[in-house]
Amino acid sequence: MKNIAVIGTGYVGLVSGAGISDFGHYVTCVDIIDSKITLLKKGQIPIYEPELKELVNRNVRAGRLNFTTKIEKTIKNSDVIFIAVGTPEGENGLADISAVEDVARTIGRNLSDYKVICTKSTVPIGTGEKICKIIDDAMLKPIKYDYVSNPEFLREGSAVNDFLRPDRVIIGVNSYKAFDIMKKVYSPLFINETPILHTNVATAEMIKYASNAFLALKISYVNEIANLCEEVGADIHQVTKAMGQDGRISKKFLHPGPGYGGSCFPKDTNAIASLSIEKSVKMHTVLAAIKTNNKQKLRMINKLDSLINGFNQKNIAILGLAFKPNTDDVRESASIDMIDGIIKGGGHVMAYDPIANDSMKKYFSNITYFDSWEDACSDVDAVVIMTEWNEFRAMDLKKLKSIMKSPFILDTRNILSINLLKKLNFKYDNVGRT
Ligand code: NAD
Repeated sequence: MKNIAVIGTGYVGLVSGAGISDFGHYVTCVDIIDSKITLLKKGQIPIYEPELKELVNRNVRAGRLNFTTKIEKTIKNSDVIFIAVGTPEGENGLADISAVEDVARTIGRNLSDYKVICTKSTVPIGTGEKICKIIDDAMLKPIKYDYVSNPEFLREGSAVNDFLRPDRVIIGVNSYKAFDIMKKVYSPLFINETPILHTNVATAEMIKYASNAFLALKISYVNEIANLCEEVGADIHQVTKAMGQDGRISKKFLHPGPGYGGSCFPKDTNAIASLSIEKSVKMHTVLAAIKTNNKQKLRMINKLDSLINGFNQKNIAILGLAFKPNTDDVRESASIDMIDGIIKGGGHVMAYDPIANDSMKKYFSNITYFDSWEDACSDVDAVVIMTEWNEFRAMDLKKLKSIMKSPFILDTRNILSINLLKKLNFKYDNVGRT
């Protein structure tokens, strides 16, 4: 069993740390935010992620998982150090890797014997070399270490399952010794015959960006097809169902909507597009996907505007704030653009999300938040579905109509029955199904 440090205890670090401890290793999760570590030590989880609490508590009880802010001590006691800090969008669309660089410097200063240093954060292609240079420069005396790129593919909302049962594990490293150590970290996955791919560092870094950019492209493509469906009287659901039956296309990521959001796709597409420009191999497809996505978010605001004939002095319920269901993460959520558009147009927002109200308060403190869809929708001029939470799929539409002032609905996730909406005389719009 290995001693593992995971630095950065956010959506990726906490799930990875808990998951690796569940594989049987001894894991210490480190963060710079005191309050986060205090909560975790009390058995409370600072983020919403299904099954995470059980996973964390089970491994804490087994004595395999603990939490600290003491990074130096943790580095010294570890065989493998995972860097899982944030890499938000920085200037010119490029990823801001300053947190990764800070951690690398601290690791370098505290290296006392051989260790595997492994980046899980999504970092631009070529960052591995930069990190090694930072570590080398910070070392007090020459110590041997190996650097690994091990990108993470978990999805918020199903992160625990994704981490424990991944489609593949990518290990980018130029040393067989470190590759063997990394294989030991992930050894329980051999039972499921999970493919473990050994690549060089730059290839591993590229695999992550190439995958995310491809998925973003798929979403933007399907959103444009949906928009065209609206003009020609075709139904996007039947179109994507048939497309998905083609094994070359696959049915995943073929759902039209208000434009992708979240902490990964927007920043990762911008990062790979900026890198491609920097390297003079401009990625026109990715740039087009980004542009389409921005336009899709705007299109939703315009749809609502036309549906209710302007926002001024209107009360509008926004159902769903998280960028997808089963998470409290609102980073780059399409709801942010929608709320912003309504406010700019002079409207009032009544917001409700089963989990993400508090996260959205950091972006909008001047809108009204409610604890149920019924309260949010009471006496409003329109309802907009922004996140496909199950609770909205199951909404009693008759009841909804009875509590609204005017029966206008924009369903940006296509989760409501058109037949029922028609039967109840709602005035509605959606994406690609009119
Ligand atoms: P996050 O913002 O939720 O968590 C980052 C954590 O790092 C925070 O708790 C922060 O306090 C901590 N941190 C920052 N600087 C630190 C330092 N110097 N020392 C210790 N801790 C520090 O971010 P996230 O969503 O977990 O993403 C982390 C990385 O993983 C990013 O590069 C992201 O692109 C990538 N990624 C994210 C997802 C996802 O779904 N969220 C999926 C795959 C990959």
